[in-house]
Amino acid sequence: MILNRKINELKEELIESTQEIMRIKSVEEEAKEGMPFGEGVSKALECALKISRRLGFNTKNLDGYVGYAEYGEGDEYIGILGHLDVVPEGDGWKYPPYAAEIHEGKIYGRGALDDKGPIMAALYGLKAIKDSNLPLSKKVRVIFGTNEETGCKEMEYYLEREKPPVAGFTPDAEYPLIYAEKGITSFDLVKDLKSIGTEDLCIKYIKGGQRVNMVPDYCEVGIWSKEKDFVIKALEKFKQTNEFNLTAHIKSDMVVIKSIGVSAHGSLPELGVNAIMQMFKFLAFLPLEDTDIYKYIDFFNKHVGFECHGESFGVALEDEESGKLSFNIGTVEMEENKISLGLNLRYPVTYTYNDMIVPFEKTLEGTEIKIENMSHMAPLYFPKDHELIKTLLNVYTEQTGERKEPLAIGGGTYAKEMPNIVAYGPIFPGKPDLDHQVNEYIEIEDLVMNAKIYAHAIYELAK
Ligand SMILES: [Zn+2]
Repeated sequence: MILNRKINELKEELIESTQEIMRIKSVEEEAKEGMPFGEGVSKALECALKISRRLGFNTKNLDGYVGYAEYGEGDEYIGILGHLDVVPEGDGWKYPPYAAEIHEGKIYGRGALDDKGPIMAALYGLKAIKDSNLPLSKKVRVIFGTNEETGCKEMEYYLEREKPPVAGFTPDAEYPLIYAEKGITSFDLVKDLKSIGTEDLCIKYIKGGQRVNMVPDYCEVGIWSKEKDFVIKALEKFKQTNEFNLTAHIKSDMVVIKSIGVSAHGSLPELGVNAIMQMFKFLAFLPLEDTDIYKYIDFFNKHVGFECHGESFGVALEDEESGKLSFNIGTVEMEENKISLGLNLRYPVTYTYNDMIVPFEKTLEGTEIKIENMSHMAPLYFPKDHELIKTLLNVYTEQTGERKEPLAIGGGTYAKEMPNIVAYGPIFPGKPDLDHQVNEYIEIEDLVMNAKIYAHAIYELAK
């Protein structure tokens, strides 16, 4: 096929452009005039647009927020959305993180796979179409996002000024493609506490977990008791029937209890052990009945415990496309007269926010527990027989010779930020996901394969 021959001819140039853009450190920094996400990000955007012009495309820069390369004629356009910002490199690299050195057929550096290599592959895919003079009925835009890692604020800016594509994809996840992404909510459950203990025993503080979208592997409480060894004895007794990793030690006038769990991603709470809920189970074992803090803890022990799908909370939604709702308690903070838990619930794709939140609020009724700081992202879902899904899957099968089922996930990809697109590549099945990891790289062979797949996908969508 002509497009693959063109990509082979463009291979060296594709590698060089990928290296060029990888050498710019584009971690979000303090905003400057015309650089809403800082200097590095702005330079990376300028660089991508310069490469695009060199390849013969028209470009536009939307005030430093986002830019695009455009090719073809027509009112409607196909959109390929990638991003040029990266997460900080961290420590322990065997090659410099912003040098784009090539070793054993791999380009090493922050952003190689997430998402600079893949967006260059898409750009060169479009270049192959242009060089082949294949006729298109729609315009094509390769859109360079700049804030994917820290809030996607550039997409808001884009959609306020430009109409969305009629179809397209983001090369920012994995193959073969993701057709279903659960709805995601994060929020706090807050209660003001009138009583945090009795005359003999009181809970001074609770803290645990770092992020709502992780299963917490640590939780700590400080308990004051009149009788010094009362709490330690209670813990010994509790552990006779509960095999939890809980330890106690004395710190000035308090007993500090530490709970160790097993961390996991918040979309898969069943793979972890929740350190907060271990602690809650123990705290309910203490003679604190009738206190406000006890009522709060007891409520969560009854309605959550170690469940991961919202069964006892009355929100156990499930569908064939994306499975069960995931229910994660990720953080806890209690100080003085206030307690707050941070939750992350992801509901199946064929349901709405109200299907989840109405029964959720019903369970909260009469508890004086309030929902605060709600953030919500609606699900993404295309039926498997949707034209976009069929087209992209066919291209994948033709180019790789492998027929694979599309994926449904609990996470959210960049595709959620733009209507009418799905996540498509760049990671091939069985290959490691090096996004945000030390020693991130892209195999040159995969970079080229991505360019071939994206060239055909763009052509099929825009022809
Ligand atoms: Zn990414």
